[in-house]
Amino acid sequence: MRKALIAGNWKMNNETEKAVSLVNDLKTELKNVEDREVVVCPPFTVLKEVKKVICNSNIFLGGQNMYWEKTGAYTGEISPLMLKDAGCDYVIIGHSERRIYFGETNEFVNKKVKAAFAYNLIPIVCVGETLTQREKGDAFKVVEKQLREGLDGLKIEDFRKLVIAYEPIWAIGTGKTATPLQAEEVHKFIRELLENMFVGKSEEIRILYGGSIKPENISVLMACKNIDGGLVGGASLSADNFIKIVKFI
Ligand code: PEP
Repeated sequence: MRKALIAGNWKMNNETEKAVSLVNDLKTELKNVEDREVVVCPPFTVLKEVKKVICNSNIFLGGQNMYWEKTGAYTGEISPLMLKDAGCDYVIIGHSERRIYFGETNEFVNKKVKAAFAYNLIPIVCVGETLTQREKGDAFKVVEKQLREGLDGLKIEDFRKLVIAYEPIWAIGTGKTATPLQAEEVHKFIRELLENMFVGKSEEIRILYGGSIKPENISVLMACKNIDGGLVGGASLSADNFIKIVKFI
């Protein structure tokens, strides 16, 4: 039985005061939640402050990105070791905004995923197609390439801990959510592909949906067989909305 996971991706939002206030609210309101996992992914600058609030709580900390090297002359980058040091257990890898604005390739994603496991971080690996790719009928092909190349060479014991987030790019921050049918179709495809890559392990892997999740649409999405949680952007900036999303039933 896969435990549902709801992760909030704050993106480039929230300085210290707002961040601390937001997680204080989450900590209080979500303290009795046991049957699902909650992760917040704040910007690097507030990771430690957020960790101070959520240590001894049921909320986990995640980074939004990282480089694959441990240390060295990589100006502006953050290493897996640094994320661990800040208290992270999770890290988002290959978000479409990283792929589009910062040129991240599947090869980068693969190096980052391997580095995350090497430092005991659970990667939330993002995949998803653009609107043009979907309209051309290429959604499955694009997602398959992202997964085959991004997850190439993973160890079987790591593979089981992996989290995938299917985030159709046309649904991110646009207010357009994939219908449960559209989302489930791709989630099912992803699970079958994962089974093909790592026989016998795909049932253990959590596949999150991401793209304009709101309190109003989370329940129908979570009712789908292969949707195991959500990666939430905009709505995770409001304590009220994020709490409602976490408590989806
Ligand atoms: C995201 O950034 O991962 C995301 C899904 O954003 P939003 O919920 O705002 O569409």
